[in-house]
Amino acid sequence: MNVKSLLEYLKEADEKKVAIGHFNISDLAALKAIFESAKKLNLPVIIGVSEGEREFIGVSQAAALVASLRHEYNFPIFLNADHTHSIEKVREAAKAYYDQIIFDGSSLSLAENIKQTKEAVQIAKSINPNIVMEGEIGFIGTSSEVIDKVPDNLELTTPRDAKRLVEETGIDVLAPAVGNMHGLLKTMLTGEVKKHLSIPLIKEIKAATGKFMTLHGGSGTNDSDFVEAIKSGMTIVHVNTELRVAWRKGIEQGLKDNPQEVAPYKIMPAAVSNIKTVVENRLNLFNSPS
Ligand SMILES: [Zn+2]
Repeated sequence: MNVKSLLEYLKEADEKKVAIGHFNISDLAALKAIFESAKKLNLPVIIGVSEGEREFIGVSQAAALVASLRHEYNFPIFLNADHTHSIEKVREAAKAYYDQIIFDGSSLSLAENIKQTKEAVQIAKSINPNIVMEGEIGFIGTSSEVIDKVPDNLELTTPRDAKRLVEETGIDVLAPAVGNMHGLLKTMLTGEVKKHLSIPLIKEIKAATGKFMTLHGGSGTNDSDFVEAIKSGMTIVHVNTELRVAWRKGIEQGLKDNPQEVAPYKIMPAAVSNIKTVVENRLNLFNSPS
């Protein structure tokens, strides 16, 4: 049996009103943890690599790693070129057989965002007609790290602008700004403070565009907001910073537990296990029946 295309899984998720988890990686520990979690729960999953993450892993090396898991285990694990800011990098990811590319023109004017996203869609689809293209509008910050304060120029997406981006570019998936934010505030690390989403805005944008939608910057979001956002039309949910925090704590624990150890594969399991806890918890939530 062959794994269906990412587009097929998006259609299924949209119909069932569940969401596909998207998790970023910088190394094999995270990839291993995400894959084993998704396999255990038997749920499709998307691996994300930002421009920085794929520069570290290697653009085609990331593709080879994910493809090796998909083929060996006949499992729906997909690869997304997260937040891609230039046409040149869109071309590079499409040629490396990525399943999805996000062209991020959210820092541009609406007209320029439409123009460049449209070009990105045309180029990527001319290389691989089955590639899933995502466009982004509104501003939710840029850093998937622990930050001191909310960036002051956050900007929500209007249904009207979202409709224009969708209709004028040919994107398959829309990434709107609906109260979500990249990164985690220091006060969110303990879990006392949570992110909240505008559920009415998600519904309005879904109604205006009828598209699959991605919720970026999911880390630290209130659980019931996640569930409501997915019921209201979010098809993919991105989580990165929570995994990075889990990774770091795991490495610190691994070093503490093995003070004399130098073999990475004896130190890293603590990081893998920490990341798995986050991923399984999130995948269960994103796929809970509504
Ligand atoms: Zn993002």
